[in-house]
Order: sequence, then structure tokens, then C-alpha cells
Amino acid sequence: MSANVLIYRRFSTDEQEQGDTLTRQSRMCEQFAQGKGWSVTGTLTDRGKSAFKGEHLLPDAELGQFAAKVERGEIPRGTVLLAERLDRLSRRPVQEAMAWIHGITSKGVQIALADTGQVFTANPTIETFLGTAIRAAQNHEESAKKSQRMISAKTRLWNLAERKQGAWTNLAGRVPLWLERNAECNGWIENDERIKIVNDIFQWSADGIGAVTIAKRLNEIPVEPWGVWRKKPGWGRTAIRQLINNPAVEGDFVPEAGMFLGKVLHGFYPRIVDADLVAKARAAEKSRKHTKGQRAKSGYSNLFAGLTFCGKCGNTAYLSSSTNRKGVKYTYIRCQISGEGRCEERGYFAYEAFEQTALDICLDLAMDDRFFQVTGELREAQIKRAELEKVIADKRARRKRIMSNFDEDDQDALDMARDLKTEIDGLTEELQQTIGDIERASGKVGAVEHLRRVNDIREAAMSDDPLVSQQARSKLRQAFSAIINSVRIERTNDGEKVFVIAFLGGVLGVRIDTQGQVIDSVSHALGKPLWQHLPADQQALAEPLIRRIKEHLIFPRKSGRG
Ligand SMILES: [Zn+2]
Repeated sequence: MSANVLIYRRFSTDEQEQGDTLTRQSRMCEQFAQGKGWSVTGTLTDRGKSAFKGEHLLPDAELGQFAAKVERGEIPRGTVLLAERLDRLSRRPVQEAMAWIHGITSKGVQIALADTGQVFTANPTIETFLGTAIRAAQNHEESAKKSQRMISAKTRLWNLAERKQGAWTNLAGRVPLWLERNAECNGWIENDERIKIVNDIFQWSADGIGAVTIAKRLNEIPVEPWGVWRKKPGWGRTAIRQLINNPAVEGDFVPEAGMFLGKVLHGFYPRIVDADLVAKARAAEKSRKHTKGQRAKSGYSNLFAGLTFCGKCGNTAYLSSSTNRKGVKYTYIRCQISGEGRCEERGYFAYEAFEQTALDICLDLAMDDRFFQVTGELREAQIKRAELEKVIADKRARRKRIMSNFDEDDQDALDMARDLKTEIDGLTEELQQTIGDIERASGKVGAVEHLRRVNDIREAAMSDDPLVSQQARSKLRQAFSAIINSVRIERTNDGEKVFVIAFLGGVLGVRIDTQGQVIDSVSHALGKPLWQHLPADQQALAEPLIRRIKEHLIFPRKSGRG
């Protein structure tokens, strides 16, 4: 028999020596296949999936995907699914396990178990059927007991911690970074130096100093950051804000997940910051958040928000403003973490002149019809599209919620998640059709009309009326995000500050300095323009953009400053 044989391997998160178990499962299955004269054609592996909870049967697991394919008739009859033992395939209650096996075998796919040598087909003998059922029941019971043991062990630990008896500090998985467990696990060792720093941080915050400045101070001292807060070493604003809001500084143990979620154990840790200072620091932190939001609303806004990055470290770069020595207000883009002293790119990249040139180059390309009000059939299609997108997003969110809160015995939840998936797929197809309709209906507007719109929106974006300019700018932002991949702040070889705009697809790019001059097109870097490598239809699409860039190279803009 030359069957299509797939090995299935799985381990759950609480299993020890995870690498070893996979190797062993493979070896046993391969030996078995050899004995049968089968050649293995593939392997499915689920890592860290619990068969007791049925995680390996969900659509994001390999076995779940395989079962779905079997269900849809995409797996050829005669295929063999080979596992080391029955409990690799199921630890669910017996009826469910048997129904699952029947579901697979009834589609002509066989299931083989290496440990017993059993091969299940569509019509098992009564002995095989009963033997399997009994073992399924045993597997499930064993898992249920183990799960129950874990729950009671955790409850016992919580009770010990409440009375501070035994090795009660083990209740905490991770210990706050200013504490250590003592050897007996019945008390804490305090790190005085770190506790002093935590108190400094609270005091600074209470004095009205923001998280960014606090982080900068700590990085300058330098105080070695504890633990891994972020991928970039050093103190960051997030770590500071998290610390200020950490209940452990007041001695509270607040589980963030698991069976004790929602409970609090007071006095579990020593209090290291007094209550008054905690209250003041948190209140000050909250009020700063508020003012920051208000400031962002008025004045200049970054047309490339969400697209602007630091070329040095890859973090977000943000727009801010300041007043120069002559008292003139100017806006600039700066690396988000350089203020905290964590990136070498410390420059302030003057924004306004760059924006003018970037508008010249990108605007008419971005002013696609879809950003304007339209009527009739097209309007209807657009409304339908928006509605579909909303419904799909809602259903996705709902499915995600169900999957993450999925309870081990909740077959209903599992069914619901599957049904939602089917619904989402159907809606997505409908959405694709609608998008096609819109594209057909929109057509192209005349050149004159197009130019008029472009100029209108450009004027609106510069308007003194904040409402008008805000609206135009948010429209532009949306448009730009459809054609621009990123705007990076970088340096030329001479150390000159430049903005590098990369267009979608990454084939085209342009460098603009802080005076608004196009200094060269990035596409020239390899000796000839990169767009020559684009397929003809894409070259035609990008033609207006290429023309604009060329114009700027030949006729540079007068400096926009002054
Ligand atoms: Zn940076």
C-alpha cells in the first residue's frame, strides 16, 4: 500500500522537555510506518497546544486545519494520519473524542496509533471501537484530575499567602524588580538602592516632571535599567508610567491573568512608597496625559502621522514645535526615544519646508476619487463597503474574544467561533465584489477638475481656520497612507538632515532636505532609476509621480523658509 502518510506531533505547554517529546513522537511514528511499509509524506506539529482544552483543534492549529481540509474533502481518501498515542489526538470527553475520530474516518482518512498499532477506518470492529472509547475516557479523566490538582494547588498557595505560612512568596510568578524571595520563600529581601530610585521616580512625578524627562534623567545618571522593558536598552517612558501605576509599590498582589483574576491580596509585598506620595505621583501623571491631548489638537499636525520613523533606530518619529532664539515658532520631526537619551539620532528635523515639497510631489497622486463625496450608484457602493468593513471587524473581534476566553468544556464556544469564521469568509468575499464595483463605477475625472480639487485641498490644508485645515489635513493623511510606505528621518553621507519618502512597493523613493530641496531621488542610488525595473503597467501608474520627482530635480523649489 502506498498511502499518503502524515505524522501528527503535539505537546502542551506544561509538558517537560518539549524538544525531546517531539523527537520521540517522530521516531515512534516512523518506525511504525516502516513496519507497515508506508513512506511518510509530511508532518503536522502543534506546539504548546492543550488537547484537554481542545486548543489543537482550533483553526490556528495544524490539526484543526487538517480536520477542516478533511471536512471539505480536500484530503485524498486513503490518507493516513499517524500519531504516537491516542492522547496526542484527543483528551476531550469520550463522546467528543469518538465523534471527532468518526468525522475523520468517515471521509476516508485513516487514523493510526503507533503505540497500539491500531488503524481506524470508517467501519471499526466493535472491539476496536470500545477499546478506543475506553482509552479516550481514561485520557480525559487523567487530564481532568491533573487540571483539578493544579487548581487546588494554586488555591492552597493563595491561602498560605493570605496567612503568610509556608513557602507563600511562590504565589507570585514574577517578583517586582526591587525585591527578591528569601531562600525559604517565606519573606522578601529588599534592594535598597532600587527602592530609593523608585521613590525618586514617584517624587519627580509628583513634582510635575513627565515620564520622558524622568527617563532621560535616569539614562544620564546612569541608572542601569532593570529587566527587559523594551527591545531597546535603557529607561523609557512606558516603563516609568507602568512603574507609577504598579500596585506592588503599595504592597498589593494583583494577578493579571489566571484563576485569581480580579482578586487582590493586600500586604503581600512590603509597601515601598508611602500612600500620599503614590496618590500625588499618580494624580500628576494623569493630569499630564490630559494636557498633552489638548496641545496636540491645536496647531500644526503631521501630515505623515503614523508613517514617520527614525532611520537610525526604527522607532516612531513625532512632530513637535518649539520657539527659536529669535522667538519664531517652528515645527520639527524628532525620533521618539532620542528625548529619553536612547537613540543617537538627536537631531530636530525642520518640517515645514519639507512638507511643501512633499505636497508638490505626492498630492495629485494621492487625490484619488475615493476621497471625495460622490453620488448615486458609486455612493451606495461606498456606503455598503464601509458597512461591510465594520461588520467584518466586529465579527473578527468577537471571534477573537471567544477564542481567548475559550473554556475547556465549552463546545458551544468552539462551535460559535467556527460559525463566525464561515460568516467572516462570506462577508469578505462580498466586500471584494463591492470594491470591484466601486472601481468600475468611479472611472477617471477630467484633468481640469482634478487640478482644481488638488489646489482646493492644498489651500484648505494651509488655512488659518483650524477647523478647515484640520479637516483637509485628515483627508490628506488618509490619502497619503494609501500611497506612502514610510517617511524616515536620515542623514546623508555629509551628515545633512533629510527626509526619505518611500512609496508603496518600496521601488520608488525620494530624499528631501529640511529646506525643501529634493537632493536626489533615492531611485538613483544604483546608477539608474529603479522605476525602470517596474513592469510597464506599474510604470504607467507611477508616471505622474516620476514626472514630479524629475521636475523637482531640474527646477528645485525656492527655499520655503523665512
Ligand atoms: Zn531613533
